[in-house]
Amino acid sequence: MDLGLKGKTALVTGASQGIGKGVALALAREGARVMVTARNAERLEALVEEIRAAGGEAAYFAGDLSAPETVDALYQATLERFGPVEVLLGNTGGPAPGPAEALEEAAWREAAELLFYPMVRLVRRVLPEMKARQWGRILFITSLSVKEPIPNLALSNALRAAVTGFAKTLSTEVAPYGITVNCLGPGYTRTERLVHLFEDRAQRQGIPVEEAYRAQEAQIPMRRLARVEEIADVAAFLLSERASYVTGQTLVVDGGATHALL
Ligand code: NAD
Repeated sequence: MDLGLKGKTALVTGASQGIGKGVALALAREGARVMVTARNAERLEALVEEIRAAGGEAAYFAGDLSAPETVDALYQATLERFGPVEVLLGNTGGPAPGPAEALEEAAWREAAELLFYPMVRLVRRVLPEMKARQWGRILFITSLSVKEPIPNLALSNALRAAVTGFAKTLSTEVAPYGITVNCLGPGYTRTERLVHLFEDRAQRQGIPVEEAYRAQEAQIPMRRLARVEEIADVAAFLLSERASYVTGQTLVVDGGATHALL
């Protein structure tokens, strides 16, 4: 299936590793011109090289997305390099763990600056051109926790819900302009971040890391974690011309891990 992404300008945030990087590679393979961003310039440069070596087109912008001025500079850099953003993947890293009761207000603010405000700011930047062109694709990476909140991850549980509410409301506002807005909630996916989490968990429990993986995998009907490509391919589809009638949705890609009916 041709996804209809050839020559489209895509902006992918949180792209230096993990799911964001996977989505950038998938979009570039489909012929999109991809601006990748995160904080680590070296990793971004390597990703751009990888995309170019495979015949794709990409450029990078390094910056901390929690800072409002980064979003402005990033948008400007993308405009100058590839023209207006037509495809947006909004993604950053996960916040610190902790229970709802004990977290300080500063931690809530920090998590909102990482997970929520960058998405609002990115949207405010890209929407005017998408509306003018009567075409746009917006996708936010959230988590399977929007279906079933995960104990001790209060910041993530609350802020993913905020992003989901923002996306749903926005989707109805911009649908008349041919713009879709969706969320993808990954399940347990073998990214560098997850590898660190499992190493940490194994150390705390005094068990081999492979045992920590096995315990998690036993909870998942597919009995394994996701590969990044399995998340990225679904994201590329939702960001494509082919998904033109899918909007206001959250698609959880978790190997069956959540038990919710819908
Ligand atoms: P990751 O930590 O491997 O990658 C996160 C990316 O975001 C990196 O490129 C990082 O540099 C970038 N980033 C983080 N903070 C940033 C900031 N302030 N400014 C700019 N860039 C920043 O994470 P991942 O595993 O690829 O997950 C991506 C998202 O999906 C996260 O929000 C994560 O919580 C969520 N998620 C992941 C899993 C999983 O199993 N991997 C499961 C559910 C949800």
